Amino acid sequence: MEVRLGDQIYIFDCGTGFRVLGQQLQNEFGEKPFTAHVFVSHFHWDHIQGMPFFRPLYANAGNRFIFQCSNRTRSLKQVLADQMAAPYFPVKIDYMQARREFYDLDAGRVTLDNGIQMQTAWLNHPQGCMGFRMETKDGILVYATDNEPGDAAFDKGLRKLAEGADVLIYDAQYLPEEYEARRRGWGHSHWREAVNVVMESGAKELILFHHDPEHTDAIIDKVVHEARNYYSKVRAASEGMEIKL
Ligand SMILES: [Zn+2]
Ligand SMILES: [Zn+2]
Repeated sequence: MEVRLGDQIYIFDCGTGFRVLGQQLQNEFGEKPFTAHVFVSHFHWDHIQGMPFFRPLYANAGNRFIFQCSNRTRSLKQVLADQMAAPYFPVKIDYMQARREFYDLDAGRVTLDNGIQMQTAWLNHPQGCMGFRMETKDGILVYATDNEPGDAAFDKGLRKLAEGADVLIYDAQYLPEEYEARRRGWGHSHWREAVNVVMESGAKELILFHHDPEHTDAIIDKVVHEARNYYSKVRAASEGMEIKL
């Protein structure tokens, strides 16, 4: 997920879409170096898998990537080195020419450049996952993926994080009936809970995110249709989707 604020680039998580984003950034900047802030919610494969395939990390020594995430379980620097170690990947990490900086982030509030306020909170997910709330003069964006409902403290923390946001991007991996039948404890949510979160937090627009890989577009369309019976401003995230604030 990419956020643009003027000429500043912020990226949230590095799954398979990160590879595509890398190509787009190379097309956009060509030989011109650029800087991006990269926030990583946690280290499950679907959030880091695109990293070795992100071309701007290799291409230009002038490129600068400022990685920020919790190192409660392991440092991202180590995770990146591990996932590229033999025999998992043929390219050595030394081939990455771009400048990489790693900063530790825990739950709390930090001021980024441009005066942007970033609030972070832990979500309810196996091995942990961090949710992000970005406050800018143009609006408030909350990226809260990989979260299971049902724990009172986490449920409250999530609603606080999402409070009054213009856009809430939230985990809706399962159908409610799938969740009830066989996915409790797997660390994910469903669209019915997503609707509860947007309504109870006073966030304005809900973007259903982290779709189950087994769900077809037809299933997602049906989910959006059903969700709109409860709350009108609901959309499902899709590759290439753009939201202007
Ligand atoms: Zn996860
Ligand atoms: Zn995930």
